[in-house]
This record gives sequence, structure tokens and C-alpha cells, in this order.
Amino acid sequence: MTETTQPFKAEIKQLLNILIHSLYQDKEIFLRELISNASDALTRMRFEMLTNSDVYQPEAELAIHLEADKEANTLVIKDSGIGMTAEELAASLGTIAQSGAREFLAKLEEGQAVPNDIIGNFGVGFYSVFMVADEVKVISRSYKPDAEAAQWVSDGGETYVVSEAVKEDRGTEIHITLKKDATEFAEEHKLREVIRKHSNYVSFPIMLGEDQANSQESLWRKMPSDVTEEERNSFYQQMTMDFEAPLADVHFSADSPVNLRALLFIPSKREKTMFALRKEPGVKLYTNNVLIKEYSTDLLPDWLNFVDGVVDSENLPLNVSRETVQNNRLMRQLAKVVKKRVLRTITRLDDETFAKFWKEYGRVLKEGMAVDPTAKDDIVPLLKFVSSKSEGKLTSLKDYVGRMPEDQEKIYYVLGSDVSSVAFSPHLDPFKAKGYEVLYFVDPIDAFLVTSWTEFNEKQLQNVDEAELDVDEPEEPEASDASEKAINLFIGRAVKTLGEKVTEVRLSKVLRDSPIRLVAPENGASPSGFDRIQLLMNQDYEVPQRVMEVNKSHPIVVNVAQMLEGDETKTEKADLIIEQLYESALVQEGLHPNPASMIPRIQKLLELATA
Ligand code: ADP
Repeated sequence: MTETTQPFKAEIKQLLNILIHSLYQDKEIFLRELISNASDALTRMRFEMLTNSDVYQPEAELAIHLEADKEANTLVIKDSGIGMTAEELAASLGTIAQSGAREFLAKLEEGQAVPNDIIGNFGVGFYSVFMVADEVKVISRSYKPDAEAAQWVSDGGETYVVSEAVKEDRGTEIHITLKKDATEFAEEHKLREVIRKHSNYVSFPIMLGEDQANSQESLWRKMPSDVTEEERNSFYQQMTMDFEAPLADVHFSADSPVNLRALLFIPSKREKTMFALRKEPGVKLYTNNVLIKEYSTDLLPDWLNFVDGVVDSENLPLNVSRETVQNNRLMRQLAKVVKKRVLRTITRLDDETFAKFWKEYGRVLKEGMAVDPTAKDDIVPLLKFVSSKSEGKLTSLKDYVGRMPEDQEKIYYVLGSDVSSVAFSPHLDPFKAKGYEVLYFVDPIDAFLVTSWTEFNEKQLQNVDEAELDVDEPEEPEASDASEKAINLFIGRAVKTLGEKVTEVRLSKVLRDSPIRLVAPENGASPSGFDRIQLLMNQDYEVPQRVMEVNKSHPIVVNVAQMLEGDETKTEKADLIIEQLYESALVQEGLHPNPASMIPRIQKLLELATA
């Protein structure tokens, strides 16, 4: 083979230029990147050997060796992984395969200022070595039996040179001539520190001379009680590069019905940052410590796909191919156990942690319930809502039922758009009077859920805005200060003014503190949930027709009624008030398409009030 000098692609030149001239302090991340490449090469080697015995040096120990030379200012990183042929060297180290690096460059092209400390978080891969190297020589011997050793040399300038090389053992060696300001990386104690910090859980030994520098623990294979929370968090953070500790971890082992070791995490944020190492959903699937799938989405339902971590089972056949994992019966058993443990962990979160969890993932679970009818049994026990008695805290259906007075038979909920407006909903009047608790369904998707979710523990879920409610009426309807004639004038005026907007205006038997309320007509075309869904989806929303119920004891109603009684022709003010009562109630219901449109009328009313 002849020696060939090739120019770097423009994008690499750009990247190298940034890396070489960057003032970035944390240059040590180059080691994490090279060790991670070595570890990948070893993982691929181990996987190859499961199915292929025709490999070069099958007995070679799978490990990473570091050799530092303080005198010469050099560092060598060696692995016995799959190695690269001359062509592969040119292809892999002459172009950008790495998505982190691409993203990094894309940001630069958009003209976005890239803060210095971000380099470390992008994981720019192999090229980060040029932050510390004057020259890099990669010598490699592929695992393919008839491949020849080759080398790749560059100073990070315009070009690299690929030529033949002499190397007897399988794998890759990276020879680094350190820059003057990076000589600390020829010091063993510095290397040991950096390995501990960034690469402690790499699952192959990282040897510094005779000593192993990483703990190389398969943390998930240890007894949960032997692992501290700190260790679990640091494992999580090294695996994901998430800056925040996880919200919760699920660490367990089982031996029957299947052998299973798992260490799973609920990240504290649903959105992954662009720096995240693990960009896809899914957990790492191992069999007997061998990684067989980087992102396995078969083990948990979609609505739990935010869970990250490791699942390891000795029972998975070693040669299980990446393609057949889905169809494996054992996988289904594993999936069942894993799901159960994750759900249990969620159920047991303390209130404060649960509130954080719910903020991030509540919507995900509800969406899961909406699209996957089989998920209901799993998800309903996790649902929590604020209620009329929970003082702003979240409460589960189970706790709600536990508090139900003996004579209460149903679970009541009120639909609305936010907790503060439903708290004043007129529908709550009779429930407050009875001492019944009402759940606030204020997430738009709640209205959708109740179209198919109708009971909990054999107790029916009941919307409080249904007209015919079997809540006992107050014994004595409150007396009104207005005469019957006056009240009838009010009702007549409301029918006239509101026209098609209401199907009926009638006296309420239940209202206490509110002047009016809107309820769904008994023979209403659509259950009230659907109105909200249409509003939510912006689908030709038409305000649904409602029944207006009037509280004849409320001062506003009394005043308007007496006003009409005094002079039946003076209707302008009465009409404004009636329209405003109606629209205010729509807002409370979360059904108003455009509350700002009320402003001119409110101003007119204020004008009348101040005249
Ligand atoms: P990434 O590792 O994210 O793909 P890099 O730029 O770090 O990006 O590496 C580019 C490619 O070079 C890798 O995908 C791999 O094919 C090859 N490579 C790098 N280091 C090694 C190694 N130690 N052994 C075998 N192949 C390697």
C-alpha cells in the first residue's frame, strides 16, 4: 500500500480550527471521547464474536490500555476492539460521522454564538483530541483475518496521511504528542482522576500501567442495597450527560420468572437537552453484561418511554439478533416485570417528587391513556388532580374515594381551563353545601379522557355540569328579595336577549353564591367534553348551547329583576348585564373562544356604574 495524503473535508477543517484555537478549559473531555470510541470498538468486537469465530486473535483480552510518558510528552490509548482497515481509517477519520459534531457545526453556521463550555457537552468525538495534541497517529489492525495494519497521521491542519503500518495485535492505538499546555495528560494521577470522573462505568477495564483506573462496575448487577444513591446518580449522569440528577431510580433484580437485573431512571426533565448523550427513547438492553441493543423500546410501553437505563437478563439467548428481539417471548416477560417495577416506583414517590414528576410526565401518561385503551388500568392509579378540598395539592382517585362521605356515591369532577377559575365555578355551589369534594379536570386532555373513562373502583365519574344531578337539593330554597313577577321578568328578558345561545332559562334549585350557571341541556347533542376538545383543536368551534340556571336570591339577579319591574321599557342596562353574566359563565366553563371580546361591554357597564 502506498502512502496517500488527503485533505480534510471542509466541515472537519472548520471543526478542527475551532477546537485547536478554543480557549475551552475542560480539555480533559478528549479522553472521555477516545475511551468511549475504544469502548464502542470493544463492544462491537464482543458482539461480533458471539456469531463469528473467524476473527483475528479471538483470545485477545478485551481491554483499554493507557501509556503515558512524561519525558516524551506522549500519551497512547490502546484497545483490542474491532480496529480499522486503511479504508476505514480514511472513511471514519476523514469525515464527520458524529452527530454531536454536526450539530455543533450547524449551530455555528446559523451564526449562533457557541459558548466555550459547550464543546464538552457536544461530545465532538475523535477530533477533540486536537485540543491537546500537536500530532496524532492512529495505528490500527482490523479484526478481519486478512486485513493489514494501517496508520493515519495528522497534525490537525489541512491534511491527513494514511499509510501501511506494523502492528501485530488486534485493535487501535492512538498516539498523541501532547501540546505544551496539555502536558498534564502525561501524568498518571491526572489521567486517573479524569477517568474516574468521566469514564468510571465503562464496562471494560481501563488499565493505567498495571492498575485498573475505572471501577468498571456493572452497577445494575450489584445488589440494590450495596449501591448508594450517589453512585446511581453518577452512573446516570455519565451515561446520559444529563446535568441534573434523575427524579427517581428503579434498581432491582429478579430471578424468577426470569433472570433480570435493571437500573432504570426517570430523568428530571422530559425534554432532553441538545447535549444529551442518549438522544433516542429506549433503555440499554444487555444479556449477561453484553450490550445487545443501545435503545430498546420493546420493554416499556410508549407512555413510559422517558425511562432510561439498563436492563440485563441472562436468559436472553446470546445470539439473539437485534431484529428478533421484538418477537421474543422472554422479552414479553421481561417487559411485564420492568413495567410493574417502574409503575410501583412512581406510585411510591413522595408528594414533592411526584408533583415534579407530574409536571413533566402527567401529560405523557394521559396521552398514553387516550391512544392506548389497554393502558387505562395501569395509568388510572397514577392520575392525580387538584380538587375543591386538596388546597392546591394533587390528590389521587384512591385518596378521593377514601374521603368520600358515606352518602356520596359518585366521583364528581368539574371541567375548566385552569384551577383558579374552576375554583369559583357556580357548579360547585351545591357540592360545597353538601360537603362533597370535586376534582378539577383542567388539563384540556382531561375532557377527552372522560369520554371513555367513566368509572373508578366501581364508582361512576360524574361531571358536575350535567343538569340532572342527584345531589340532594337544599331543604329550603333560599328566599328572594325580588317578587315572583320581577324574577319572571328577568327570565323573560334573558330568553329574549340570549336567544339561540341558550336552550332554556330557568330557576336554579342549587345555586348559592353564584348568580347564574350554565349546564348542558338534558338532550344535548354532544357531551360537554367534546365542546372543549373542539375548542382545543380549533376545529370550527361553535359555542355550545346551554341551559342558563338563575339564582333568584343573588343580589345581581334581584337588582336587575327589580329594575325591570320598575320600568319594563328600560332594558338596555339589563341586557348588558345578562349578556355579561352569560359570557362570564362561559369563561368559567373554559368554553369562551375569545374572552377579550367582552372588554367593550365591560367598559360600557363600568361607564353606567360610574355615571
Ligand atoms: P463516533 O464515535 O461518534 O462515531 P468519532 O468521530 O469519535 O465519532 O469516530 C468516528 C468513527 O471512527 C467511529 O464511528 C468509528 O467507526 C471509528 N473509530 C474511532 N475510534 C475507533 C476505535 N478506537 N476503534 C475502532 N474504530 C474507531
